[in-house]
Amino acid sequence: MVVGASFAGLACALALARAGVRVTIAEKKTDPGAKLHTTGILVRDVVDGVPILQGLPASLVRRVDAVRLYAPNLRSVDLRAPGYYFLATDTPGVLRWLADRAVQAGAELRCDTAFRGAQPLAGGYDLGAPLGRTDFIVGADGPASRVAKALGLGTNRQFLAGIEHEYPGAQLGEPGFLHCFIDRRLMPGYIGWMVQGVHGVQVGLARRLRAQGAAEMKSAMAGLLAKLAPIADFRGRAVASVRAGLIPCGGLVRPLARARALLVGDAAGLVSPVTAGGIHTALAHGLAAGDAVADFLAGRSGDPRREFIDTYPRFRVKRLLRFAFDHFQSDTFFNLALATEPMRWAAGRIYFHQRAVMLESPAEQRRFEAP
Ligand SMILES: Cc1cc2nc3c(=O)[nH]c(=O)nc-3n(C[C@H](O)[C@H](O)[C@H](O)COP(=O)(O)OP(=O)(O)OC[C@H]3O[C@@H](n4cnc5c(N)ncnc54)[C@H](O)[C@@H]3O)c2cc1C
Repeated sequence: MVVGASFAGLACALALARAGVRVTIAEKKTDPGAKLHTTGILVRDVVDGVPILQGLPASLVRRVDAVRLYAPNLRSVDLRAPGYYFLATDTPGVLRWLADRAVQAGAELRCDTAFRGAQPLAGGYDLGAPLGRTDFIVGADGPASRVAKALGLGTNRQFLAGIEHEYPGAQLGEPGFLHCFIDRRLMPGYIGWMVQGVHGVQVGLARRLRAQGAAEMKSAMAGLLAKLAPIADFRGRAVASVRAGLIPCGGLVRPLARARALLVGDAAGLVSPVTAGGIHTALAHGLAAGDAVADFLAGRSGDPRREFIDTYPRFRVKRLLRFAFDHFQSDTFFNLALATEPMRWAAGRIYFHQRAVMLESPAEQRRFEAP
């Protein structure tokens, strides 16, 4: 049983089904592409490194080659790395495509079916009606995992809160950039962003989670839209959908597994504490979890707790960077330091996995782009 039909759960179920395991995916929503809470940007490493994405239809993605990083005073630098790019996605379409692949491989997808609890049995769990009995359960049910709580596994404790507006049909003047905004007042602990997506423009922000919750997020979003107005003005424009959700940023939960049960994706805290990107790790470790569980169930390997969980990333450096950003973020610092060498190093690590080239003037950019 895999709980959750999003990136981690679908990748895991696909691997299990391909290995010949009878697998059911329980999803509480009516459809894996409904009510999403993610921008859905994929980094190049995902496309190259996660084999199940081979064959992703071109109509579901839009390539973005560079990052324009704005200081709080809106001064900006352009960042790109040779051969590196991001993909904005039609995320509901990508999830439906992944779900179709899992079903074609033999997985059973049961939508409108929530996991509610589990009783341990000899050699598995009883999940109650309508799910019944399972030999192994994978919790891929997101940041506030119910599987983790029901089985006494670790739960996420540190979060960013994210919100995003979608403006279908809108067009940015500079669509080749992922526009990222630093501003401690509006986005403490993280950034705002604006990207030309597949069907329009997506504008969003994430910030440290505080008690005031929804009202505070709404007011921060209004502040970001006002700030962006000189670059692209979306105030007063109809919002097609709002994507909002929690982003775990405290690293891996503990414990991640018990006999015949493990967590993957956001449920496991498998999200970069710095970039808050979790799709890559959800897909990559979802697939690997599926392979490990299939090997275990077929008697080809030992308990996945020992054989597999050690491969999860620990995010040590990224947790340190998050601590620094949480405690020492300063708008004055970013206004002054944006174009300096240490910032190039930091931005390179964050956006391009150390392959960054920083370009400031159009002339430098033309030189860089020349063959
Ligand atoms: C605003 C925002 C923007 C983001 N943008 C990006 C981005 O651009 N790039 C990136 O890499 N990461 C991004 N992230 C993070 C990324 O979305 C997550 O890391 C990723 O979705 C994790 O996938 P997952 O499969 O682990 O969990 P989720 O995507 O959270 O999916 C969990 C699934 O489980 C289902 N579920 C939950 N409870 C139950 C239950 N009891 N029974 C049955 N089903 C259940 C849910 O309905 C859902 O389908 C963003 C996050 C937010 C909040």
